[in-house]
Amino acid sequence: LLAALPGIIRTNLGVLMGLLCLIALSPMLYLRYEQIIALIIVVSMGQTLLVSWWLMNLVNRRGIEHIKLIMRDPLTKAFNRRHLELEMLGAHDLFLKTGNLSTLILFDIDNFKKVNDKLGHPQGDAALKELVKLINSKIRRTDSLCRLGGDEFAVLITDSIDNIGPIIAEKLREAVCSATIISDYQVTISAGVCDSQGTISAIDWFQKADECLYRAKRGGRNRIEVS
Ligand code: GH3
Ligand code: MG
Repeated sequence: LLAALPGIIRTNLGVLMGLLCLIALSPMLYLRYEQIIALIIVVSMGQTLLVSWWLMNLVNRRGIEHIKLIMRDPLTKAFNRRHLELEMLGAHDLFLKTGNLSTLILFDIDNFKKVNDKLGHPQGDAALKELVKLINSKIRRTDSLCRLGGDEFAVLITDSIDNIGPIIAEKLREAVCSATIISDYQVTISAGVCDSQGTISAIDWFQKADECLYRAKRGGRNRIEVS
């Protein structure tokens, strides 16, 4: 039973543990009764330790994978709004305590409804995925690209230097404008940029960037506006 139990787990590690138990228990064949009992106790204690360690690892790994999944948008695999909210809270807190600046770029695809109407929803989905790939290739690994919903996205640049936000936002706008995200259709974005300086909370910071995005849309689209 001691040897079979780990095998029931049906992983390589379980089978290995079963084999180890068999080897550890093999002296039973020529030992006296009290010695056999002692051996079984020692082996079962060792096995309990190994199985507990294995289970703890499994639960930790599954937990981490689960957290990673709930922070991602299923379609594009970009981070989601929940991730942005948490990151912004952390970044704003850091700014208040240390003065470390972070920048938020909110952007939205221009006239995205037309893409769906003209080319169909699956092409629209493909465009969203392509856009995420492009933006991710233009930002640092430490920056977060998040899909807030629909065709609205955010890039959070943590630990940014003064006035870098508008430069990066303009670089992203140009990259989208000159890329072929969908063949025979030019995709453009409008963006609102705001850094944490002068904002009283993460919510205030988001609202200021959102107002800028709204201004960029009203100002004719395919442009950025800075708070
Ligand atoms: P604007 O320039 O003002 O942003 O115009 P717009 O047409 O892009 O308008 P808006 O941003 O309000 O509309 C977003 C559209 O995005 C609405 C919907 O048809 C489309 N959309 C939202 N989510 C998805 C999605 O997951 N897949 C696809 N294919 N389309 C989506
Ligand atoms: Mg849009």
